[in-house]
Amino acid sequence: MNVAQLLDDATARIAAALGLEKREARLEARVLASHTWGVDAAWLIAHDTDALSDSQIAAFQSLLSQRLQGRPIAYLVGMREFYGRPFQVSPDVLIPRPDTELLVELALARLPPDQPMDVLDLGTGSGCIAITLALERPLARVTAVDRSATALTIAQRNADNLNAHVEFLISDWFAAFAGRRFDLIVGNPPYIAQTDPHLARGDVRFEPMTALAAGHDGLDDLRRLIPAACAHLNPGGSLLLEHGYDQAEAVQPLLRMNRIQPTQSWADLAGILRVSGGKLSK
Ligand code: GLN
Repeated sequence: MNVAQLLDDATARIAAALGLEKREARLEARVLASHTWGVDAAWLIAHDTDALSDSQIAAFQSLLSQRLQGRPIAYLVGMREFYGRPFQVSPDVLIPRPDTELLVELALARLPPDQPMDVLDLGTGSGCIAITLALERPLARVTAVDRSATALTIAQRNADNLNAHVEFLISDWFAAFAGRRFDLIVGNPPYIAQTDPHLARGDVRFEPMTALAAGHDGLDDLRRLIPAACAHLNPGGSLLLEHGYDQAEAVQPLLRMNRIQPTQSWADLAGILRVSGGKLSK
């Protein structure tokens, strides 16, 4: 079997098993092949009639069979790009999503490049938000918490790989902070309702449930962390939180009750209100 035949066969099987468009399935087949054989996309094109050895085929098939069972491509290759940079991922952390780049953009708009602001990222996971902010705003003092030690190991590794300075702390939301205050607090907490059928489909089945689900309406963590976040903001400091597609209406009053005034919600690229927040009134 040559490279082109193997990729054609894999494309058809991925498309059928996961219900993907052929174009998307082909891209996945190429990503798996590049990763397995340590080659780039150009190599795959230049070598499409090369015969493959049994061990090359076997290594590819083993990754492919995991993908056919639904395991996310990011976990199979151990990497996902976020805000133009590569982040290592494992099943201990949520896979960074393009939706979350909205949160990053909003945060950057509140961080003047020439001022040393204190920033906190809640539930950092892979570290993608905290690390991106630290790299985009070198003067910012960025702290990030997670209650998972394994997640923090990955976040620290990502910070090291990307040369970012972030202080990582193990903490269940604000448990590790007595009296410390920040100019900007951001977070992408779990916000999916436990009973949401979407938790049983696609990539999320393989992601850490503790990073996704939050009680019967998905708001358990947001209800807990909003008052705590407001108690850890400097006067005039900003809070920005990602939430579910239908939660802006529930999150805004929670923010107002805690002196975030006025509150605002922002839409992601799909037009869905995805982040809410505002400034702590003085
Ligand atoms: N946006 C993610 C999803 O819908 C959920 C991320 C989260 O719960 N923080 O899969």
